Amino acid sequence: MKNSIWTDFLHLFYPRLCLLCEEPLVEGEEQICLNCLCDLPRVRHQEGETWESLFVGKSDIKQAYAFYVFEKGGHVQQLIHALKYYDNKELAYSLGSLAFRTLLYEKHPICDFDVLLPVPLHPKRLQERGYNQAEWIAKGIQSVLPAPINTSAVTRKVKTETQTHRNVYDRWTNMQEVFELVESKELENRKVLLIDDVLTTGATFNACAAILGNIPGIQLRAFALAKV
Ligand SMILES: [Zn+2]
Repeated sequence: MKNSIWTDFLHLFYPRLCLLCEEPLVEGEEQICLNCLCDLPRVRHQEGETWESLFVGKSDIKQAYAFYVFEKGGHVQQLIHALKYYDNKELAYSLGSLAFRTLLYEKHPICDFDVLLPVPLHPKRLQERGYNQAEWIAKGIQSVLPAPINTSAVTRKVKTETQTHRNVYDRWTNMQEVFELVESKELENRKVLLIDDVLTTGATFNACAAILGNIPGIQLRAFALAKV
């Protein structure tokens, strides 16, 4: 109780502001106000249009889903930027959790998985950033649908970033060289959901899936917070 009075007192002088519209947040709102949250553009699949075409013939990903539409200069880009470059892992957590609370409510088939596998960062990048944003999205998902998060099966050997070096990335013809499989036992006969912040050309997911596809009985799906 004492704590909450103190927090209220602090907010009187230092109101918490919405990351997007910079209006003061009210109780129960975290980082983004309800208005801005409701206005974020969600991916609406037209009938027959899915992202699976990005994966067919390239990897064994059977199903893929992205939640928000990433528009240049838009609010979703601002949020992805914040969770990636501004040390805001809590935002990654909240958005992951929010997306899956919605998807679960909608009984979306992407909710059917046994293991969450965040796309790993290169160890150097992880050291610079201090956290893997995909892992924090996974933690948010886990808060809605409890499943183990696997961060030990795959490591990243090549330091590339889809957003800033997309062209360089696309030039990787042998995608199996980007990631390395360290151990596979825990993924045998599991429905594995790969997690990333954005889905662009599908190259990252395909590279990751390329080394996981041979694990006996594995089923691969992919989820990204936003589709570029
Ligand atoms: Zn707002």
